[in-house]
This record gives sequence, structure tokens and C-alpha cells, in this order.
Amino acid sequence: MQEFNYHSHTYRCGHADLDFTDEEYVEAYIKMGFKRMAFTDHCPEKNEIDKRNQMRMKYSQRKEYLESIQALKEKYAGQIEIQSGYEVEYLPGEEENLKELKAETDKLVLGQHFVYDDYKNLKIHGRDEFSDKELLRYAEYIEQAMKYNIPDIIAHPDIYMFKRKEFGEIEAKVAHHICQSAEKYGIPLEINLNNIFANTYYENEKLNHKPIEEQRKNLGKVIYPCKEFWKIASEYDIHVVYGIDAHHRGQIELFNEFVELANEIIGKDVIEKLNFVDLK
Ligand SMILES: [Zn+2]
Ligand SMILES: [Zn+2]
Repeated sequence: MQEFNYHSHTYRCGHADLDFTDEEYVEAYIKMGFKRMAFTDHCPEKNEIDKRNQMRMKYSQRKEYLESIQALKEKYAGQIEIQSGYEVEYLPGEEENLKELKAETDKLVLGQHFVYDDYKNLKIHGRDEFSDKELLRYAEYIEQAMKYNIPDIIAHPDIYMFKRKEFGEIEAKVAHHICQSAEKYGIPLEINLNNIFANTYYENEKLNHKPIEEQRKNLGKVIYPCKEFWKIASEYDIHVVYGIDAHHRGQIELFNEFVELANEIIGKDVIEKLNFVDLK
């Protein structure tokens, strides 16, 4: 089993379980036998660009968030290594603000949930249709973020498949661009397990306890991991990690089931070619 998970949220973002405390996340990781974990909640924005509600903590919450992590680091030293972090998006012009977030934490995961359109409006995955030009811009932003040495991990690189009907020429081009950049800058790509959770074990905002055979029937609805993306990724010399992207109680405990289902989606032949790394 992968001994670490560097993708965890907290109640502060507003869309994770509100009664699930930071300490309870840590306890779940310990119970599952993880050796290292990072809190990477959706980052606050110094310039508030993403105007959606319940997406991220306020800038003023940063201090309390980091203090909470620091206290847990000390309390659980010797049982599990706890790291601090954020999930960030890259936007041109925000480099310095992102570097500030990097300087105060151990890990930044890049979850590139949006890009600017030609008029500087946000186009958001899962909500908006992306033109081909905007989809290519998504890969460009990921490359820029790596060039500026911002992310430690690229979360769900295949999230751009939301609202795409098929994996065609443009989709392949985006995949090659991301993988080429990951290879060039040596930044790991994450097989994100959250969309599997959202389409299987998580139903009507709570956990169902159906056996894995039942869950498997819903895998057709899963957008990411995207089989075709990872087939392309397997042709590159890149590093790969799994990420739970935990938002809810009970999610961490299902890590092994998620990995099993993710591997089924991607296919054994491709999984065997991917270079899974032990990231410190
Ligand atoms: Zn989230
Ligand atoms: Zn996340």
C-alpha cells in the first residue's frame, strides 16, 4: 500500500464534512496505517478571483489552519508525519501570491480547476464548457506553474475530461502537453480517487456500505481517472502517486478499494508501466 497521502481537505473550505475535525482526519490515516499525510485544503486567495461560495478558506483563516496543523504535527510525532499544504490553482499574475503560500507550507498540490477565457472570466471544470483553445490553455497553465516551481504534485491532471464527449485529438494533445511538462520538470502526477468515491460509495451526501461488486457497476460514470489519459502518461518517464482528495468521513478508510477500482479503470497493462514513487 502507498504509505502516504498528500491530498486532504478540511471543514474550512466549506464543502468538506463540517463536523470532521483535523484531528479526526489524522486518526483515520493512522488507523489505515499511513506513515505520512498532508493537509492540502483549497487555498485562500489574496486577490479574491474565484467568487464561488464554499470553495476555499478565507485569507484570514490561514494562520489558524497552519497552527492547527502544527499542533497536530507535534501531538502525533512518532505515529505519523504530518505536513502542511494547500491545493492551489495557477493563474497568470498570481505567481508571487502562490510562492507566498509555498513558503509557509510543506506541499502544494496543483488542482487546476479553472483557466481564464479571452476576456479574463474564469472557465471552471465541471461547470463550464471549454473551447478547444481553453482546453489547451489548461495544459499551458499547468506547464507555467511547474516552470515557476509552484506545485509538488499535479492533482487530477485528467479533470479536463469533464463535459468532453470523447477523448479525441485535442484531448490527446492536452495529455501529451501535461506529461511532457511533468517529465521535463520532474513533478509527479496524481491518480485522483475522489471522483470514484463521488460516483460509488458516496450517495446523497452520505456513505453507502454496499460491497465493491455493487460499486463497480457505477464506474462508467467516473470522469477521472481517465483511461486514455493514463495510457498516454505511461509512455513518458514520469512519477505517479495516488491521492484520496479526502473531504468526507469514511473516505480515507476506503483507500484500498479506491485503488483497486482506479486500477480497473486504467487497466492492468497501463498500471504496470506507470512509475509509482515513494514521495517524501
Ligand atoms: Zn474540494
Ligand atoms: Zn482536492
